Amino acid sequence: MIQKAAELIRSAQNLTAFTGAGISVESGIPPFRGENGLWNRYDPQFLDIQYFQYHSGQSWPIIKEIFYDHFGDAHPNGAHEVLAAWEQSGLLKSIITQNIDNLHQRAGSKEVYEFHGNSRNLVCMECGKNFAVEEVSLEELPVQCTNCGGLVKPSFIFFGEGIPPLAYKQSVHALEQADVLLVIGTTGEVVPAGQLPYIAKEHGAAVIEINTEPSVFTKRITDVFLQGKASDVLRQLATELDKINTH
Ligand code: NAD
Repeated sequence: MIQKAAELIRSAQNLTAFTGAGISVESGIPPFRGENGLWNRYDPQFLDIQYFQYHSGQSWPIIKEIFYDHFGDAHPNGAHEVLAAWEQSGLLKSIITQNIDNLHQRAGSKEVYEFHGNSRNLVCMECGKNFAVEEVSLEELPVQCTNCGGLVKPSFIFFGEGIPPLAYKQSVHALEQADVLLVIGTTGEVVPAGQLPYIAKEHGAAVIEINTEPSVFTKRITDVFLQGKASDVLRQLATELDKINTH
């Protein structure tokens, strides 16, 4: 299976990756679902946009704990690094990620479309002013805008919010162009993100899936399923590609 996937990757003209929370698990960031998922510990309503607007004093401390205290200590792992190296060598065209942890960029990836936004930036819900997280104090919550005093929220999307239009457009375009799609560490249960791999498939792409467990995609559209941890599997693929290239 590794060999078959490596052959597909090697002959790809337009290799694209679609990633989810699973790729960052080995960096110490838990996924939302599953055994150690965040939703077993926290109530998802804290990330509902309407709840946040009216109860930001309750939502913000939870948001800080999950996305800034925990995420802040995380570093890119081998999986992020392999993808960044493949982009640098011209093999990988882009990454569409559901993740908001910035780890692809920190590993060196440049062409990253953040379908759900990013936790490293914040935005004022009143005047629209943008902040880098380093510019604001998370000691006094809820965070208030230094410009107008309005409520500030992280720039990732909450339940009830739309997908950032530019990221949506770039993602769909990339998937229409892809001839091989890597689907890594996602259950595919979050919509509309979970619909994205089908766009690539409908446009003729071969789908290689990497996950510790089968997902909704596995039986429907996956051509090669590589079961295992993202960093192990991607490292094996990188080694296999090196072997093919030196022959
Ligand atoms: P999910 O939480 O629904 O599922 C995680 C998937 O990763 C599962 O299919 C699981 O089997 C797989 N997985 C777990 N460990 C793995 C590993 N080491 N290697 C490979 N696969 C592994 O994740 P989702 O489908 O991405 O959807 C969740 C939503 O949560 C996304 O919208 C995302 O924005 C958000 N989220 C993001 C982060 C992050 O930024 N790191 C973390 C949690 C949730």
